[in-house]
Parts: sequence; structure tokens; C-alpha cells
Amino acid sequence: MDHYDVIVAGGGTGGFSAAIGAAKSGARTLLVEKYGFLGGAATNANVLAFCGLYQRGGGEDPIPASGGASDLLLDRMRDLGVDPTPRQNVRTGHWLVDLEPECLKRALDMCLEATGVETLLHAKVVGTHMSDGRLTSATLHAHEGNLDVEAAAYVDATGDAHLAMLAGVPYRAGDGAGGFQPYSSPIRVGGLAPGTRIDRDRLSQALREYNETGPFPTTRNTGGFFAPIPNSSDIWWMIIDHPARTATSAELTEAEHYARAAARDYVDVLRQSQPACANAFLVQTGPQVGIRESRHVEAETTMTGDDLLRGRQRSDGVARAAWPMEDHSRIGHPVFTPVGGDGFAHIPLGSLRARGVSNLYLAGRTIGADPMAYASIRVMGTAFASGFAAGIAAAHPAADIESLKTKINELGGLI
Ligand SMILES: Cc1cc2nc3c(=O)[nH]c(=O)nc-3n(C[C@H](O)[C@H](O)[C@H](O)COP(=O)(O)OP(=O)(O)OC[C@H]3O[C@@H](n4cnc5c(N)ncnc54)[C@H](O)[C@@H]3O)c2cc1C
Repeated sequence: MDHYDVIVAGGGTGGFSAAIGAAKSGARTLLVEKYGFLGGAATNANVLAFCGLYQRGGGEDPIPASGGASDLLLDRMRDLGVDPTPRQNVRTGHWLVDLEPECLKRALDMCLEATGVETLLHAKVVGTHMSDGRLTSATLHAHEGNLDVEAAAYVDATGDAHLAMLAGVPYRAGDGAGGFQPYSSPIRVGGLAPGTRIDRDRLSQALREYNETGPFPTTRNTGGFFAPIPNSSDIWWMIIDHPARTATSAELTEAEHYARAAARDYVDVLRQSQPACANAFLVQTGPQVGIRESRHVEAETTMTGDDLLRGRQRSDGVARAAWPMEDHSRIGHPVFTPVGGDGFAHIPLGSLRARGVSNLYLAGRTIGADPMAYASIRVMGTAFASGFAAGIAAAHPAADIESLKTKINELGGLI
């Protein structure tokens, strides 16, 4: 059986960052991803832009909130011809880094190769073996069949906490009271002339008319959210949502079918309502529907909405969370609650440690958070930050909090 120092499950932004953090700490590191490419929701669900890499506001110069692996990645994106300079939403003061998925996939591969991370794609974690409250090995469903891999420490960066669930860590489904943040399916639309501006009034009117008789009435009847795709005249369009009640495969199947059918209708509405979009066509609904929320495993510490409201800084903090709490409970109408204090809250080490399994760490949207805090920490900029700290912590299981913080800082992570 192959033996590693650290195995990271899931190659989204949290897992990428954890693998880089562990490998830069000198750990022999394996990153396991069920798809044939990395990036998580950014490349499998058409997510529009990196949010949370910078604090809100800050005048001309945004204040970074992550550092570490995300800095490496932004540099590689630049080398590959995509400008990662953040743009500010002038209305909200938030900073976004626009995404082009093919560049992102390649940049992720390049960073991991350069850092010495061993990556296994097309391999899904499907089982665990435990002994004395520790995870001893994980079973992967690889292309050639099942194989077991073992490590001294593991990081669950699967978004849906698959590894921790398989290890028996107790979890809360959604908000614990029957509510889940909804699924959404951003779509990629092509056939637009460069610089096309969407006439919001016309689109809104056309969507209201569609809603009267169309089979997929949208709650985003003011037109949803558009984002540019770098080096392209295509656009991302966030217009399709689907309620989540169980986060089961059956419900996801329903959401996939719904999104594919609705996408065609909405692009027709766009084409018919906008002379500038007369040649618009649907490029992609995404490899899969976007899952905002599923299960939350118990961590040693649970971040709370109050931590974010106050911008709580703490001595056991190992990373920053700077994105506002973005609540999608009213489908299609997100509500943003800003982070208080100095504009970020610390992510404590305990929220990166699964309760009851001593060598299992959490990264990205699996970290310990109550429903309000989750609405902030799940964004990709923060997933980079929590992942980097989790990977470094997994590589240094005996380090005390002060020496761990020093190592994170030395490797470029912001605390
Ligand atoms: C519709 C939508 C829009 C969003 N918009 C934004 C936005 O504009 N900006 C922003 O910053 N955030 C946005 N988010 C939130 C953000 O995309 C996610 O919360 C973020 O991607 C979380 O990163 P992660 O690495 O924790 O998980 P993920 O990105 O979900 O990555 C998890 C990875 O683990 C893999 N995996 C899962 N299970 C296994 C397994 N058993 N074995 C192996 N691999 C496995 C998956 O294939 C995936 O690659 C949005 C989310 C959605 C759904």
C-alpha cells in the first residue's frame, strides 16, 4: 500500500491549497479528485469569480485576505494570459477575480506539479479504515478498481465532507432545521458581440412575461447576475436556481434535468429581448449543478455568525474569513451581511480539526461553521485560506499553535 504523510481528498480550491501547504511543509502529499480535472465548483459548476480573496472596500488597493497558495495560482494564471487583477463591484465594494476555467485548470496543475504534490484524478474516496480514533487508510475507487492508500494525516476538502462522513464524524444536514442553501446553475452564453451590454429593463420585462406561462418561472425576474469571462466575449449568467431539501442523488438528478431544460428557455428569452444578443447560444450548463450546501461535520470549534459580525480576532486563528455572510435562503435574492471589526474574522485551528478523529483535518466549505458563518466561509477565496492552514497543520501534527502560525506566515499565508 502506498504511504504518504498527508492525503487530501478533493481538488477544489480548499484541497488545492491544502495540498500546496502540506507539500511546501515537506510532506509527501497525495491529492485525490473524483473528476478528471481540478478546481471544484469553479470548473465543475461554472462558478463565476473568486470571492473573498480580498476584504471589502479598501479604496484603490484591495486588502488581501488569503495569500499562500492562492498567490501562486494567481501568478500562474497571469503567466497563462488571464489577468487576475481584482475588479471592484462599485455598488457593494466587493472585490472579484474573474475566472476562465481552462486557464484555471491548467494553472492548478502547474502549481501542484511545481510543488511536488502527487495528484490522482478519476479517483473517488469511497471508504475508510479506522483504529483508536485515527484514520489509518482510505479506499479510493480508481479507474482500475479499488485501491487503499494510507497517510499519517488526512484533509477532507470534498466540499460535501465525504471523507469525514465515511470516517463516522457526526454531521448536521444543511442548517440542521431542514433548510439548505439552494442549488444554482450558472450558464455560459456565447454568440455575443464584444462589449455587449445587457438592457436590464428589457430583460426584466421579457422574464416577467416568460414567468406568466413558461414552464420554468425564475425568481430572478430582474435578470439575475452576469459576469465577464476573461479573454472571451462569452458571459456567465446566474439565472437558474433549484430548491435543495435533501441533497440526495435523486434530488440532484431532478435539479440537473431542470437546469438543462430551463437554460434553453432563458437563452431564448435573452436572444429575443436583446437585439445585441440575437445570435446568443447556450455554450454550457456546466459539468454539474452547483451545490451550495450539503452536510457539515462536527469540528473541534464551530465558527459562528457572531464571530463574523464582530470581526473576531483570536489567538488560535490560523487564517482569515473576509467575505460577507451571503444568505441565499430566499431563492434568487441573496442577502449580504458584512463582516465587522477590521473587515475579517479569524478562522480558528479547531474549526479545521474534525471532532473525534485525531488525524483528520477539514478545509474549504467542510470547516466547522454554524449556518450564518457558513454563508461566508464557503467562498473560494476563504477556501484557499482555510485549505492552506489545514494542509500545513496536517503536515505538522505536533506543532503548538504559535509555531504553526509562524510556519503559515513563513509560507505566505495571511493570519
Ligand atoms: C452556484 C454557486 C455559485 C457560487 N458563486 C461563487 C462565487 O461567485 N465566488 C466564490 O468564491 N464562491 C462561489 N460559490 C461557493 C464556492 O464555489 C464553493 O463553496 C467553493 O468552491 C468551496 O470550495 P471547496 O474546495 O471547499 O469545495 P469544492 O469546490 O466543492 O471542491 C470539492 C472537490 O472535491 C471533489 N470531491 C468530492 N467528493 C469527493 C470524493 N469522495 N473523492 C474525491 N474527490 C471528491 C469534487 O469533485 C470537487 O472537485 C458558489 C457556489 C455555488 C454552488
